[in-house]
Amino acid sequence: MRERIYLSSPHMSDEGYEMQYIQEAFDTNWIAPLGKNVDEFEKEFAAKVGAKAAAALSSGTAAIHLALKAAGVGKGDIVFCSTLTFSATANPIIYQDAIPVFIDSNYETWNMCPKALEQAFEKYPNVKAVIVVHIYGLSAEMDTIVEICRKHNVPLIEDAAESLGTYYKGQHTGTIGEYGIFSFNGNKIITTSGGGMLISDNEERIAKARFWATQSRDPARHYQHSELGFNYRMSNVLAGIGRGQLKVLDQRIIKKKYIFEFYKQELGKIVDIEFMPINKWNEPNYWLSCITLNGKVRPLDVMEILEKENIESRPIWKPMHMQPFFMDFAYIGTNVSEKLFHNGLCLPSDTKMMDGDLEKVVEIIKRLW
Ligand SMILES: *Cc1c(COP(=O)(O)O)cnc(C)c1O
Repeated sequence: MRERIYLSSPHMSDEGYEMQYIQEAFDTNWIAPLGKNVDEFEKEFAAKVGAKAAAALSSGTAAIHLALKAAGVGKGDIVFCSTLTFSATANPIIYQDAIPVFIDSNYETWNMCPKALEQAFEKYPNVKAVIVVHIYGLSAEMDTIVEICRKHNVPLIEDAAESLGTYYKGQHTGTIGEYGIFSFNGNKIITTSGGGMLISDNEERIAKARFWATQSRDPARHYQHSELGFNYRMSNVLAGIGRGQLKVLDQRIIKKKYIFEFYKQELGKIVDIEFMPINKWNEPNYWLSCITLNGKVRPLDVMEILEKENIESRPIWKPMHMQPFFMDFAYIGTNVSEKLFHNGLCLPSDTKMMDGDLEKVVEIIKRLW
């Protein structure tokens, strides 16, 4: 059988940058705990996205958790959260014993609907934080969302786990709200095998996040703790992978865009297929090429026919308010995210795909029409 085509899998640099940084860590025996790679990765990452400070962490989930903590979210607090996302966005709200209220998407962006957000504020005036997600590398409508949050004086956390390299009106996603988070999970646009980053222009808060992430050790000779701590730091080896991967981020975006445009060219003429919305103010990283199917052919048909040929694809995220675990929490919207979930599909968007692979995927899908 032919080699599997993946949705999005790790892709190390051809130049071997990652190994050079890992080797350095080994040569100096600085494989743990922290070290030069962690410090440099934070600096290089902050410079790349245009943030004042960054904390390298063990996962994107950990970054969201610490962002919520930094924003002062605690027991019983309400947090507004995009419903169309991966569960990692919402779980840390529960870690903090806070209460999520899920906000619907709009069709124009697939991301948080500003109208639904306004309605949510009318219903719940006491809100501690808002988490907006930039899904599949598309940016949310930030001007309006920022304005609404400012009006209500509520900090905005951007879940940019899927949108490293995505710009909104020339500004990098993740740097627009008070806090931004990124993920270097295995299927993200760049990966450290696992890891995350918390960024902010508030250097003090980032320093505090680093403190919490290293078990909240007070500056004393003995082990002293005046606050609850977490073991959330990134290892120096993984930060080395991150430094190498950061060097090829721009290359990866070019390839992701090429993949999207290839599909659009080849499948865009089929009337039942609609591509994810690229707004003129949005420069996406095209992490995944996503479509909706609005005719007789259903997403499952496409997934099954591709799977038979050993090609991976998957549905659009199932909204949080439809998840058994989160179902009892409030949801504000008009079921746009539900429809996107029912009709949506992520096409294989692996940067290692060759033209022949892309042609193959397109040819198989076209068999359904
Ligand atoms: C991947 C992802 C995360 C979390 O990332 P981890 O590093 O796996 O913890 C958070 N939010 C979204 C939207 C993601 O896609």
